[in-house]
Amino acid sequence: MSAHVSNILEIDGLDTSYGRIPMLRDVTINVPRGHVCCVLGANGSGKTTLTKAILNMVRADRGKMKLNGEYIDSWPTHKRIEAGIAVSAAAAGTFHKMTVEANLKMGAYYINDKAILDERLNEIYRSFPVLRERLAQKAGTLSGGERTMLAIARAVINKPNLLILDEPSLGLAPIMVVEVFEIIRRLCAMEMSILLVEQNAVKALSVASTGYVIQKGAIVFSGSAEEFLSSEYMKNPVM
Ligand code: ATP
Repeated sequence: MSAHVSNILEIDGLDTSYGRIPMLRDVTINVPRGHVCCVLGANGSGKTTLTKAILNMVRADRGKMKLNGEYIDSWPTHKRIEAGIAVSAAAAGTFHKMTVEANLKMGAYYINDKAILDERLNEIYRSFPVLRERLAQKAGTLSGGERTMLAIARAVINKPNLLILDEPSLGLAPIMVVEVFEIIRRLCAMEMSILLVEQNAVKALSVASTGYVIQKGAIVFSGSAEEFLSSEYMKNPVM
């Protein structure tokens, strides 16, 4: 594919609605390849709606979207996933009655070659040592932080072109937030392209190169991490 394209994802003028109620309004976002881009917003601002629209689980009323330089507006959800968009959502995405190992293998369901699967699993165990210790444990018995790690690992195992992390710090104890962001920093060092949707602006900007603030479905601020840190917005970042 077009390796020279500098943005892995480009969203231009996206509108969505729930019935007659408009939700996203004229949302324009670029996710630079090999970097973390964050979208910051309070509860109900439209962050999850944005991630659903990227997967075409919420229909776009207007706007254009490109993945890796290619227009994907007409692509159904499964085609977008096959093209390498992976989502890890904080509150969902793990099978509680299955072991950690089985969950990881479910994430890698389309890798048929055992040698490649073993290699990917080993990479995951290196990046997520906490999971290696709990391979035989049922996912439902993990702590919230461990479950978040598992959800991220399951999305990462396929080496996605674009990893979307939907509020990975949600509901976690501060110590686990630190660990989850350490993982994100490691993925970032591996030049994974990540769209990080977060309420925790300080944490998100500690890993992101660029970011956007979404309020009531519209982008109200955007800039580089440096621009954010010196902005008025960061004087009151708790939304
Ligand atoms: P949170 O951090 O609380 O998850 P969010 O920024 O992810 O918030 P969204 O889940 O995108 O917010 O929701 C944005 C708005 O759209 C909210 O007001 C929500 O109530 C509304 N909404 C979400 N899903 C639907 C739906 N299926 N039908 C109607 N309204 C919806």
